[in-house]
Amino acid sequence: MGRRLLFLGPPGAGKGTQATRLARAIGVPHISTGEMLRQNVADGTDLGKKAQAIMEAGDLVPDEIVVAMVDDRLARDDAACGFLLDGFPRTLAQAEALDAVMGDGAIEVALLLTADEDELVGRLLQRARDEGRADDNEETIRNRLKVYQDETAPLVEFYPEHGVPVLSVDGLGTIDEVFARVVTSLAEN
Ligand code: ADP
Repeated sequence: MGRRLLFLGPPGAGKGTQATRLARAIGVPHISTGEMLRQNVADGTDLGKKAQAIMEAGDLVPDEIVVAMVDDRLARDDAACGFLLDGFPRTLAQAEALDAVMGDGAIEVALLLTADEDELVGRLLQRARDEGRADDNEETIRNRLKVYQDETAPLVEFYPEHGVPVLSVDGLGTIDEVFARVVTSLAEN
């Protein structure tokens, strides 16, 4: 189908789950910067060593590091026929860097997954218990939500101003229910 999509939304909204499913359904690579960074930490690469403490505090890894990582990934053959970005861009500078490298019209549609703050905190605390993710303790969670509001939420206005529709999808409900909304919303756009 060759679609070029991205997911926006706060931590805990379910981007990773829905992005994995959608990428599989439409046959494009799922490019998650969070996963790529966690893999670098697990592998003990130089990049991972730089990123680890930042991620554990719930702060953002510097734009130049993440942008270089995504540029490399998008240059691979499998991304030539479409891709689904998850967790990137996360700042206006990253969005501008993506435009600069891919040209205008690089992104067709952004999906914004929404959920209220109580729901997000509850889900992230649950994930902390289930998966033991180092960036999922209560203090870090609060910081990550603040970082989202300050740094990433402005993208919800940036994209429409740059001709990219932002489709808002309610992230509350079962995984199947939310996925059905994602598919419907994309089919209508
Ligand atoms: P979530 O979806 O729960 O917010 P991610 O798995 O997307 O978490 O990201 C985990 C962490 O990785 C972030 O809190 C941040 O430190 C780092 N990270 C991921 N993507 C980016 C990005 N585009 N820019 C800067 N830091 C990032």
